[in-house]
Amino acid sequence: MPRLLILGGTAEAVALAHAAVALPGWQVVSSLAGRTRAPAPLPGTVRTGGFGGAEGLAHYLDEAGIDVLVDATHPFAARISANAETACRLRPTPRLALVRPAWTQGPGDRWTELPDMPELAAAIPAGARVFLAVGRQELGPFAGRDDAWFLIRTIDRPPSLPLRHHAVVTGRGPFDEAAEAALLREHGIDVIAAKNSGGEGGRAKLVAARRLGIPVLLLRRPDPPAAPVVASVSAVLAWLSGWVRSA
Ligand code: NAP
Repeated sequence: MPRLLILGGTAEAVALAHAAVALPGWQVVSSLAGRTRAPAPLPGTVRTGGFGGAEGLAHYLDEAGIDVLVDATHPFAARISANAETACRLRPTPRLALVRPAWTQGPGDRWTELPDMPELAAAIPAGARVFLAVGRQELGPFAGRDDAWFLIRTIDRPPSLPLRHHAVVTGRGPFDEAAEAALLREHGIDVIAAKNSGGEGGRAKLVAARRLGIPVLLLRRPDPPAAPVVASVSAVLAWLSGWVRSA
């Protein structure tokens, strides 16, 4: 039976795991970094935690008898994607990347794109009330911005944050536009700072911002993984059946 390893941590990886376990004859292993206390339920086998770099991942591919790897990690999770590239060279393994398309600006959007997190932090106007949607691990560059107030949304309530003036709300996407607009209004948000993650679940805050005329500071994506890239679960399934035919 062919064994598929999905590098996950995204909604797309969850959807892919559900679709792949339904393929006749496949064994599916999903790998999570372990950042979330109660991740979304996944079918098939789940393993959690880092592999110990590219060599650790290559060793895992061998030990677990993985036949093909799909990198369905977040577009900003550049380290694990680079590790996957190296590991699949060290222990030759066919690899495909599932990457959700980036968001693109439309009429009425007031976006400024920034190349890195320090520049994003520096672009926040003094005195702003900011919905800071960049991920809890990435708040360091904002720690010095005592002149701004931040709204943070996390899946698990964090023990503490390196921000002087802030409030925390908890929630797991996808979020809808009406709820996002209500959140922005309730907290008097006048700027959003976010990563260009792409995907439907995160887009709602940008649509709400457009409707309310709120400017958005958006972090540009790192380069995509150097692998064949597809944008949908159905394209991954087609690639898997191509692999079965050629194996
Ligand atoms: P990263 O910087 O690319 O990875 C850091 C390290 O975490 C990797 O070197 C690896 O450790 C481990 N790791 C990451 N993803 C893993 C996975 N799926 N399975 C096993 N180990 C994994 O990634 P990150 O930005 O910290 O993101 C971690 C996870 O959260 C990813 O799975 C990603 O899809 C998800 N996520 C990330 C973001 C984001 O904005 N970055 C947003 C939503 C979800 P070893 O080197 O020890 O193997």
